Amino acid sequence: MFETLKAQPADKILALVQAYREDPRDTKIDLGVGVYKDASGLTPVMRAVKAAEHTLWEQQDSKVYTGLAGDPAFADAMVDLVLGDAVPRDHVAAAATPGGTGAVRQAFELIRMARPDARIFVSDPTWPNHISILNYLGMEIVPYRYFDDETRGVAFDAMIADLETARKGDVVLLHGCCHNPTGANLNAAEWDAVIAVLQKTGAVPMIDIAYQGFGDGLDADAAATRKVAGALPECLIAASCSKNFGIYRERTGILMMVAQDPQTRKLHQDTLAFLNRQNFSFPPDHGARLVTMILTDEALRADWQAELEDVRLSMLGLREQLAAELQKLSGSDRFGFLAQHRGMFSRLGTTPEMVEKLRADHGIYMVGDSRMNIAGLNAQTVPILAKAIVDAGI
Ligand code: PMP
Repeated sequence: MFETLKAQPADKILALVQAYREDPRDTKIDLGVGVYKDASGLTPVMRAVKAAEHTLWEQQDSKVYTGLAGDPAFADAMVDLVLGDAVPRDHVAAAATPGGTGAVRQAFELIRMARPDARIFVSDPTWPNHISILNYLGMEIVPYRYFDDETRGVAFDAMIADLETARKGDVVLLHGCCHNPTGANLNAAEWDAVIAVLQKTGAVPMIDIAYQGFGDGLDADAAATRKVAGALPECLIAASCSKNFGIYRERTGILMMVAQDPQTRKLHQDTLAFLNRQNFSFPPDHGARLVTMILTDEALRADWQAELEDVRLSMLGLREQLAAELQKLSGSDRFGFLAQHRGMFSRLGTTPEMVEKLRADHGIYMVGDSRMNIAGLNAQTVPILAKAIVDAGI
């Protein structure tokens, strides 16, 4: 029977990882895959994670199943981290998922369950996996304009015009912070305008927040999510712990559903548990438990926040260095957007041909849409990248 299977398109980013590995040049620079790397190119286990793992090893005396929605203490800690006191806790249903991807997938399934004909508005561009999962589930995608190729900022008027075509029963997918792949983000006033459009159209917001703490700080990065959740009757939030806790392979994420009242929350909570049961039964626990331990222990939390802040500031420093270097070499301010962008990524805004030229001539690897992982740089490689960009005439 399996002869009917067709080859699936290879994941472009993973193919890039392979090509980078096979490149013999020792001057090569990897700006491809979306993981944080320190100045020596390592993706370290965070100190608080190590400490929590140690304690867990000493104290954990059973690995019996948790609940279908995961350990409630994880949900409490994460709802607090993401939503703060923006909405009453008893309005929020939440279920642990395998990573942020699992949360996104469960959210889409939930939407399809509730409204098989819902259209999902997604930013153009967005994280490619959004599109891929929606296509796989056979759901209707409506792209909204997002990135301005000239300014490399948000094409805000176009975005609003497109969102105004949403209707009740549609869902608008928004990146809570640190937009992937562009790095361009809405400011506070622009978020207010998006909220007003959502209120007017009746479309439901779904927020994907995968980089809290990587942009302007833990609370600042959650501010938009909190505002949206507090202002609209319903809201879905898919959060990932992969990046801000550095626990990529532990598959730790959570899906939250904000309701108008505690009675509705009960139905939501049961539905989230049901959906987990259908897809994988119990969610992974190890990463979720570490996150809970860190967030609920004062000393561990302080150490985690300090390390996360170092990570954030190191990326910000690289952005500023790169923008300054490009300013010096090009004699123009046209790369200033790199210092304005936030998070791990920036879209350089050049052609696939130029991206290929940078790879062939300089061993610089970025995704074909010119997304660069800023964390792939260090103080020594920034001037090399800047020179290559200017020499290529970008
Ligand atoms: N959403 C976005 C926008 C992302 O960039 C990512 C990570 N690449 C995720 C969700 C999910 O990450 P994970 O499944 O590794 O937690």
